Amino acid sequence: QQPFLSIKDLKVHFSTEDGIVKAVDGLSFDLVRGKTLGIVGESGSGKSVTNLTILGLHNPDSTKVEGSITLDGQELNGAPEKTLEKLRGNKMSMIFQDALTSLSPYHTIGKQIGETYRKHTGCSKQQARARAIEMLTRVGIPQPEVRVDDYPHQFSGGMRQRAMIAMALVCDPELLIADEPTTALDVTVQAQIMDLLKDLQREFGTAIIFITHDLGVIADIADDVLVMYGGRCVERGTKKEVLSNPQHPYTWGLLGSMPSLDHPVDVPLNPIPGAPPSLLNPPSGCRFHPRCAFTEKVEGGLCSSERPLLEIVDGRGSACHLTDEQRRDFFTDLAGSA
Ligand code: SF4
Ligand code: MG
Repeated sequence: QQPFLSIKDLKVHFSTEDGIVKAVDGLSFDLVRGKTLGIVGESGSGKSVTNLTILGLHNPDSTKVEGSITLDGQELNGAPEKTLEKLRGNKMSMIFQDALTSLSPYHTIGKQIGETYRKHTGCSKQQARARAIEMLTRVGIPQPEVRVDDYPHQFSGGMRQRAMIAMALVCDPELLIADEPTTALDVTVQAQIMDLLKDLQREFGTAIIFITHDLGVIADIADDVLVMYGGRCVERGTKKEVLSNPQHPYTWGLLGSMPSLDHPVDVPLNPIPGAPPSLLNPPSGCRFHPRCAFTEKVEGGLCSSERPLLEIVDGRGSACHLTDEQRRDFFTDLAGSA
């Protein structure tokens, strides 16, 4: 299957008062229709920036974007704003952690969902309203014919999140980018929203990018996983490959800090020591080297001097100087001691 979305050697650099921030530095990945790619990493790893850039929502004056972003064969990097505007909310759309960033407090929920539909389809106001009610029904809002006239503040947090999803999906987008959309919600509502996204994907074949720092969420929703660190992909594979046979020391750290059933949620078992790297002055070589426990196992100080290449074979790969054999041994040890 041809990739529906293809990112090639994407670089996103911003100028700030302190210098150039290399938020994304040579990222490549593909996504086919009907599949969900989970992008996981700590804050500042470049996951949100990547996705805002795909949608063309970055500030063009302070941001330099290099590389290629093709959606259904169309190049988006450098495309005119008019072209992107036609695609956003229509062929591709995004849901965020906080619905209030997408919903205006001054207009009713129905009006906002309907206007997005009218903008892209040119339908009548009555048709737009009917469509808004249909969407609210689809995302499980009770009494949609009544609630369509509510303002966002009249909705609970979970309902606002559903309304935002309804708005993002009103034009049946072929690509949906979800940036931590359930982080602020309680576990029950979170599970309902994940189910809703899965249903919609089954029904419409939507390609989904799901951004999160939570591997539990990845385990629930993703087909494939991309692990980002310091603006780069450090590991890529199917969900099963990454979660049950991770290859990169950073992924080992993430998995080690994942709460499990036998441990209280707030107590990470093995939080990764240290902080994410500054992207103003990123570490040389492997960007993870200041926090990595395995640098001494690599000969010749390569970890701090040479960038480990990411070689992807059949969708699987990681960027680390350790040998395959070392990786097997170290991961077996870690898994045994956990
Ligand atoms: Fe650790 Fe070196 Fe591998 Fe980077 S390349 S993850 S520093 S062992
Ligand atoms: Mg983010």
